[in-house]
Amino acid sequence: MRRKNDTNGAQRSSSDALRLSEERLQCILELSTEWYWEQDENYRVTRIVGAGFGQTGTDPQQYVGAARWDHGAVPVGDGGSWDRHKAMLEARQPFTDFVFRRVDPRGEMRYISSSGQPVFDGKRFTGYRGIAKDVTASMRAEQLLRLEHMAARCVAGVDSASAALKAVIRSICETQGWECGRYFGWNDKAGVMAFTEFWHVPNPDLARFIEKSRELTYAVGAGLVGRVFQSGQPLWVTDISKESRLQKGIARDAGMHGTFLFPAVSEGKPIGVLSFHSKTVREPDERLLQAVGVVGSQIGQYLQRKQAEDRIQYLATHDGLTSLPNRVMFSQLLNLAIQSARRYTRSFAVLFIDLDRFKIINDTLGHDAGDKLLQEIAARFTECLRESDVVARLGGDEFVVLLQEAGEAEQVATVARKLLSAAIKPVVLAGQECRVTASIGICRYPADAQDEQSLMKNADIAMYLAKEEGKNNFQFYSENIKVQSLERLTLETSLRRALERNEFFLHYQAKLDLKTRQVTGVEALLRWQHPDLGLVAPVQFIPIAEETGLIVPIGKWVLQTACAQNVAWQREGLPPLCMAVNLSARQFADENLLADITAALEQSGMRPELLELELTESMVMQNPQRAIETLTAIKRMGVRIAIDDFGVGYSSLAQIKRFPIDTLKVDRSFIRDLAENAEDRAITEAIIAMGKTLSLSVVAEGVETQEQQTFLLDHACDAMQGYYFSRPIAEDQFASFLRQHLESPRSS
Ligand code: C2E
Ligand code: MG
Ligand code: MG
Repeated sequence: MRRKNDTNGAQRSSSDALRLSEERLQCILELSTEWYWEQDENYRVTRIVGAGFGQTGTDPQQYVGAARWDHGAVPVGDGGSWDRHKAMLEARQPFTDFVFRRVDPRGEMRYISSSGQPVFDGKRFTGYRGIAKDVTASMRAEQLLRLEHMAARCVAGVDSASAALKAVIRSICETQGWECGRYFGWNDKAGVMAFTEFWHVPNPDLARFIEKSRELTYAVGAGLVGRVFQSGQPLWVTDISKESRLQKGIARDAGMHGTFLFPAVSEGKPIGVLSFHSKTVREPDERLLQAVGVVGSQIGQYLQRKQAEDRIQYLATHDGLTSLPNRVMFSQLLNLAIQSARRYTRSFAVLFIDLDRFKIINDTLGHDAGDKLLQEIAARFTECLRESDVVARLGGDEFVVLLQEAGEAEQVATVARKLLSAAIKPVVLAGQECRVTASIGICRYPADAQDEQSLMKNADIAMYLAKEEGKNNFQFYSENIKVQSLERLTLETSLRRALERNEFFLHYQAKLDLKTRQVTGVEALLRWQHPDLGLVAPVQFIPIAEETGLIVPIGKWVLQTACAQNVAWQREGLPPLCMAVNLSARQFADENLLADITAALEQSGMRPELLELELTESMVMQNPQRAIETLTAIKRMGVRIAIDDFGVGYSSLAQIKRFPIDTLKVDRSFIRDLAENAEDRAITEAIIAMGKTLSLSVVAEGVETQEQQTFLLDHACDAMQGYYFSRPIAEDQFASFLRQHLESPRSS
């Protein structure tokens, strides 16, 4: 009996214990925010108990029979993939605090944290059991905070606006459970919002939806995007398929339901709209709506900041006047062209264009007119070219064209002809109809050069040839033109630095009075000691200095130095001499000429009548009226004027009469052959005789022999200059030469 009682007692106590433990579990589950769950061997939920689940407001029965990954659930970690979790279950491992999210039947995003253990019946695996809780509130708070930080990080960490937007859209999608997001940016020019960036979970449907979005634009107030832009407020649409305000929409057609939009705001004004879609119905998430205020202005500020950067980038790569790409950008584009031509064995051409009379227009009509001309030319050149070609302004009146896929020389020539005729069309500037012409040099890839530097240099060389060929034409680069032009280019570059580097100096050539045998004058002749080339002759560099305008500052230096030297000799006790200084056409036309002469005289303290300026016939004949005015002004200062190289120009003595001049210098070419050439003798005789009748002093140049000297003396030529008497020499040599001559005039 006892035994029986004992047995009964044991049974009772074990069922009591079970009941007690059930009661305890019940109590725990009722008080706890967690719930208890069980799954079968296929991980399908078989049981859910606990008030904690009820707090989520959904019926637990919904989930019975489903696996954890059903109902569109997504793990929060593991990059959104279930693989790792499933592998763990297959390995029958316990897990703790595994967090996933899913949209519940009411359209709300819920985050669930679950922990579980495998269950075995003996050795047989029968499923899992464990507990879970809703962690939505804490996850949201944390995620929204992260979203704000992330938006700030995204926009700070990437260098392109597009990458920043994509990063922000992606992390909003991933953290907030949206399947896709798009950004529509305000386009000021078009006055609409246009699709600019997107992200979506990998899915062909969504890819198609995005493809369709690419063409979308929204006017202010149009569609949900336009409305959000207009109001500047976020907008939540629980189910877009039921949205009565929309008549149609590709989002709705694409099967989207939950939709959420908010503006990117800068300085209080919307600059674009972000829109997010979900295939499930989504209830408004107040916390998210609040958080996007911060996110939207972070994005807006970044995009605006970024726009300023883009503007700076634009300014750094474009020419402000013509809006064409500048040298920097051209160099980038040219390098890309080289790379791509190399890869696909294609050819292209670089055309260097220089306007021919630009400087004159700039100088005579003013800089505004010059600017207008450049803009006009830039527009015309652009019009001549295909979209794929590039025209850039290198500076000044220099343009450069990159002609893509230019295989045949004739193709390039056709474009060059088009450019020339575009340039020459008249343009009205400052009320005057003007024309400019252009000179074009062409270098082809790969035939003429294969790298940026050589392409540019060779095109430049070819352009110089075009100038030399009389301007308003184009020339192809060839090896032959390289040699001569290179020398010229080298000279031009170093000529620019010669003055500041003190590479110039003067030689002095004495002038001998034939009757008195006295040294009455001296001519200053410019010399250039080039650091590499050695002594460069004036005939080589003066034309370049003249063409580039460098002759003006150089000539001023000559004038100052010659006058100062003359005074220095006098201070040394030598007799006063007349100092002749050569003027070039450019200097003669320069408006500062008179001021420069005055300054040279004042600074040196030289008497004006000791200065003689040598000009050529062509200089005075170009614009006789103006020449007379200038010469008269110079004469009024007391300075003398000589016509150099006389006889080779086209002026007659009758014409020369009109100019207030003092001296005629008979060109060396007549003197050279006096002995054997009767015609030269006749011309020289005539010049001397006519000079006499005009009361001019006549000087013969280039006298190298006794015979020549005798002829000149016999025909009453006033003075002579030449190697026979003295070569041009340095100042100290000249001083000793002069002293020696004063002591024994006959011997020197
Ligand atoms: P130019 O003014 O007619 O100077 C005379 C040139 O003939 C000088 O050449 C002189 O050295 C050279 N010469 C003098 N006597 C003889 C001779 O007996 N036989 C030969 N064969 N030559 C003689 P250079 O110094 O080479 O100057 C050449 C030209 O360069 C000058 O011709 C002048 O037009 C120009 N030039 C020289 N210095 C200056 C300057 O400071 N300014 C400007 N604008 N031009 C200058
Ligand atoms: Mg001279
Ligand atoms: Mg001469």
